[in-house]
Amino acid sequence: MNRRKFLAGSAAAGAILSTAPRVQAAASDRPAILGGTPVRRNPFPSWPITDEQEEKAILSVLRSGKWNRGMGQVVNRFEESYSKLMGSHRCLATANGTSALLVTLNTMGIGPGDEVIVPPYTFVATINAILQVGALPVFVDSDGETFQIDARKIEAKITSRTVAIMPVHLGGNVADLDTIMAIAKKRNLPVIEDACQAHLAEWKGKKVGTYGKAGCFSFQASKNLNCGEGGAIITDDPEFTERSYAFHNNSRRRATAGYDFSYVAKGLNLRLTEFQAALLLTQMTRLGKQAGTREQNAQYLTQMLTEIPGIAPARMYPGCTRNAYHLYMFRYDPGHFAGLTRAKFMEAMAAEGVPVSGGYAPLNKEPFIVNTMESRGFKRVYSDRQRSQWAEQNQCPVNDKLCSEAVWLTQTQLLGPRSDMAEIATAMRKIRNSASEIAKGS
Ligand SMILES: *Cc1c(COP(=O)(O)O)cnc(C)c1O
Repeated sequence: MNRRKFLAGSAAAGAILSTAPRVQAAASDRPAILGGTPVRRNPFPSWPITDEQEEKAILSVLRSGKWNRGMGQVVNRFEESYSKLMGSHRCLATANGTSALLVTLNTMGIGPGDEVIVPPYTFVATINAILQVGALPVFVDSDGETFQIDARKIEAKITSRTVAIMPVHLGGNVADLDTIMAIAKKRNLPVIEDACQAHLAEWKGKKVGTYGKAGCFSFQASKNLNCGEGGAIITDDPEFTERSYAFHNNSRRRATAGYDFSYVAKGLNLRLTEFQAALLLTQMTRLGKQAGTREQNAQYLTQMLTEIPGIAPARMYPGCTRNAYHLYMFRYDPGHFAGLTRAKFMEAMAAEGVPVSGGYAPLNKEPFIVNTMESRGFKRVYSDRQRSQWAEQNQCPVNDKLCSEAVWLTQTQLLGPRSDMAEIATAMRKIRNSASEIAKGS
């Protein structure tokens, strides 16, 4: 009887065999991509996780008839809870994480002619927000060990046109905030933390997003705190929040009584709805526990993966006291896997029942940025000389290499039992043991 049939049989006889030890694939087994038995048959935990709590909250907004923030109190309540959770003085909810960044840039008056320091290893929204206000993203190379902006390389990229530093806490890991804040202070530049992937992450025991002038969060469906689409800006400056409020409310201040049709400065409508806030408040009741599970699982996984030659989990700076693990990131070195390419390694992992991804391509090289630079508006603002200088200096060799080596697991894969982590590690060991055979077969 082959193993597949045996497993099917034991499932059917589950009642009888429930006390029998689970059949676990050993690292010596034949990889699934070569016809062996997959390490995992069950899917990883599904996302989002909800129950009657969410249903009640949504129904309550529905029945109230107060569906937007002007009418109801749920967005206000969410903002209070989130700033309390973060340890910030103020929070403004926005339509999504992209708009949290866009509002922040506008509130800071950042626009055409300005330069903003950013990492190239990030989600495209970080860059889109900068381009959208007409400013130039100036890329600082990555630290290949941590996957974060290499803070030691920031100062060399600061010019008289630099108006802000925008680190990203990528994957829920934390950028080197000590170095970044010291440079910001020395050069008198505001820091905007893109914490869209870093809910509850901490630097030296304090939440990320509270270090900069503003911290921006996303509650998009894939994020660790999710309401489909949503975002927030936290800050300690109430006046900054009021100006951000006006921008996100079509230039209109918070109404003290009745309607107010006086306008502060240019704006947009980027408000969160009461439905989304209701979801956030209920999802927040699970966030702490989920974060704890991810952290424990990730730490266990790291212990096992560091033992596998050719697998290098993303390091954390000593100041990172809590990683939010939106992604579990590691570098894959084919040199230790008999030359097996990353693409084939990922295929073999998927065959074992552990889907992984290769993550971002080098963002600084994406044609859409050059196309934007060559647009009519940008050409009017930035001289030929400035644009060619930007292109010349836009080199991030460490990041190029990182993008070719990176492999990601996602946060939902960290939400199951500890045994899931052991299976992930087993899948990698299996593949490594038969790497040359897999490589030949391709
Ligand atoms: C998700 C994300 C954003 C944008 O958030 P949305 O809610 O999708 O608009 C920005 N930056 C980073 C790093 C992100 O991961």
